[in-house]
Amino acid sequence: MSAESQPPCHVFLLTFPSQGHMNPTLRLGKKLASKGLYITISTTLDFGLSLINAGSIGQLPSPVGSGFINFHFWNDGWEKDDLRRRDLDLFMLQLELTGKAALTQTLKDRAGENRPVSCLIGNPFLPWGCDVANDFGLPCFILWVQSCSVFSIYYHYSCKSVDFPSESNPCCDIQLPSLPLLKHDEIPSFLHPYGEYKAIGLSILQQFRNVSVPFCILMDTFEELEKDAIDHMMTICPVKPIGPLFKTLKFSDEKGALSGDFMKTDDCIEWLDLKPPNSVVYISFGSIVHLSQKQIEEMAHGLCNSGFPFLWVMKPLPKDMADCLGLKPHVLPDGFLEKVGERAKIVKWSPQQKVLSHPSIACFVTHCGWNSSVEALSSGVPVLVLPQWGDQVTNAKFLVEQFGVGLRLTRGVTEMRLVVRDEFEKCLRDAIVGPKAEELRENALKWKKAAEKAAVEGGSSETYVDELVSKIKKQSGNAMDVQIKSMCSIV
Ligand code: UDP
Repeated sequence: MSAESQPPCHVFLLTFPSQGHMNPTLRLGKKLASKGLYITISTTLDFGLSLINAGSIGQLPSPVGSGFINFHFWNDGWEKDDLRRRDLDLFMLQLELTGKAALTQTLKDRAGENRPVSCLIGNPFLPWGCDVANDFGLPCFILWVQSCSVFSIYYHYSCKSVDFPSESNPCCDIQLPSLPLLKHDEIPSFLHPYGEYKAIGLSILQQFRNVSVPFCILMDTFEELEKDAIDHMMTICPVKPIGPLFKTLKFSDEKGALSGDFMKTDDCIEWLDLKPPNSVVYISFGSIVHLSQKQIEEMAHGLCNSGFPFLWVMKPLPKDMADCLGLKPHVLPDGFLEKVGERAKIVKWSPQQKVLSHPSIACFVTHCGWNSSVEALSSGVPVLVLPQWGDQVTNAKFLVEQFGVGLRLTRGVTEMRLVVRDEFEKCLRDAIVGPKAEELRENALKWKKAAEKAAVEGGSSETYVDELVSKIKKQSGNAMDVQIKSMCSIV
């Protein structure tokens, strides 16, 4: 194939079907597309339909800069609202079974349609993606959607370099190179003997069998934020901190038909516009966490008594989650809405990136998902941390103790403590007006500046992205030849 007849270099991004994975994947996709690449983002049909129903995907392929974004959805073989999706042991297996076959077929189809894939960017929850890429002789990268510190914890767990909590010693501390001492409940809960959702931990660990081959691990973090952990991991494998991925995207990109939200966002910016600077509490626990009804009531009373205006995301409880886990939708205390009046705005889903950049926001009550953590840090917003499970417990520690931008409400599932209304109200005051508030805000603004510096032209993250794009473009011709040859041997 001559250089002139080659279509634009085609990069295939595979993502786990959840909001916390789709957001960084789409952001990376947009970044690469804006530099002239043709991007396909692949996830399950079930999740894809929620994007389509929310109006988050318009006409495809969608032009972004000098490139394009397209989507590919594969059928995971289960009906809508099938309760088995909530059993992660079963779901991970089903994803592998259906996803591997779909990916193999799609790579063949695209080559046949003169749009051969030049490289695959895989997802740590779907480690089989790299196996398929290897079968086709395609270069494979991973988009790690958690922090580098969490990556380091998984890595050291996988190679058993130190003792981790076990059935016989569940409460031991963990000291890893270039990380602060971690208490037993500060490692991702999927690795803890008492943690739930072990299947996720196992899938992530499978990814580490590939660490010895020279592929590169892209991370939504930046050098200044996690310098020690990044420097350390770079001595072991090719880590590329390219975040914060959302920072360089203009809001106009997010507004259009390509937002990646699995629910329609409610308008709340006009309401925020009417509030004084640095006055509003923003409360959101990401796309999955469902707190106890008692905790919601205590927070509602705390917010009411505090006198601060607040924007609260109360997402609807998905039907399958209610059926499977026996959960009930949250109910606010009687008379609450009348009492708080104009001081409160309750939404089902917010445009979080815009909210966190709004000058009225004083602090963010968060479950500490990595996306929410990076978004808060990069927007200069102090946090109150209420982690539950997974890497949230590790991120909470870092937000409070390492980055100095937060106050702690809870430690996560191992503790299962109820934060009562007076305690919640006190923490809000401490974060917004107390003597600690200024220090938190100063630190948050420091990280905001550092994030901006990393993400502009010539900044550390942007330089890695540019290197990645050149590498992909350079390898693309090569990969196409290899792919066509290996297809012949696979068929
Ligand atoms: N998010 C949003 N609107 C909301 C709540 C969350 O846009 O009302 C976005 C948020 O900006 C983040 C993602 O959803 O990018 C949630 O990812 P995170 O890693 O914080 O948590 P997860 O949902 O994976 O637990």
